[in-house]
Amino acid sequence: MRALVALQEKDKVLDAIQKDIDAVPPRIAAVQSDLANEKKRMDAAKAKTVELEKKKKTKELDVASKEDAARKHTAQLNELKSNDAYKAMQAEIEKEKAAAGDIETEILQIMEDIDKSKSEEKTLAAELKKIEDFSKTDLAKLEAELSHAKGRHAEAKALRDAAAEPVPADIMKVFNHIRSRGKPDAVVPVVDGHCGSCQMTLSPAMIAEVAKLKNLATCESCQRILYKPEQFVPTAA
Ligand SMILES: [Zn+2]
Repeated sequence: MRALVALQEKDKVLDAIQKDIDAVPPRIAAVQSDLANEKKRMDAAKAKTVELEKKKKTKELDVASKEDAARKHTAQLNELKSNDAYKAMQAEIEKEKAAAGDIETEILQIMEDIDKSKSEEKTLAAELKKIEDFSKTDLAKLEAELSHAKGRHAEAKALRDAAAEPVPADIMKVFNHIRSRGKPDAVVPVVDGHCGSCQMTLSPAMIAEVAKLKNLATCESCQRILYKPEQFVPTAA
């Protein structure tokens, strides 16, 4: 029983270290997700610039085609015989020139947008660089934390295994079974005639059974293994 209580203490230490270990991967994932989000923003900004440049190219082709049409029609003016046809063609040419001018204005706006988008890209690139540097430091810290915890775990595991050695196999089986059911405190003291875990009042016969230290006495309510702590502590003189 003394060995069992000692084992439980070692198991508690081991559980706490395992909790530390389990806490690290989600933190690593959080750092990586922050970094991925920042990269996504950067990619979106780049895509926006590309999109604007494509738009600008299309508009430039539009201007060229309007100007080309105006030039051709101007060349054709002298071939026209009637005054009406001449005037109509002139009006058409004016319309084409005006359209080209309007598109030029649009292009100027797009160029302004491109400048803005490029400067946004620059800002994001600087931010990304910063976050990348932070992430590198954070990840290195977390990896170190993890490897340190793993080292502590290995040490605690060796101590735990040593503590498990004197415990007979059949008792070990019961102990592990209780722990596996989500009750890490598989061995509990009897406190004032109650189960130290679920607080159920124990019958005097049960307490006598616990005191015998012959068979494993388990709480009828929560199935934990019971012991009387006063049997282990040397009584003060
Ligand atoms: Zn109980």
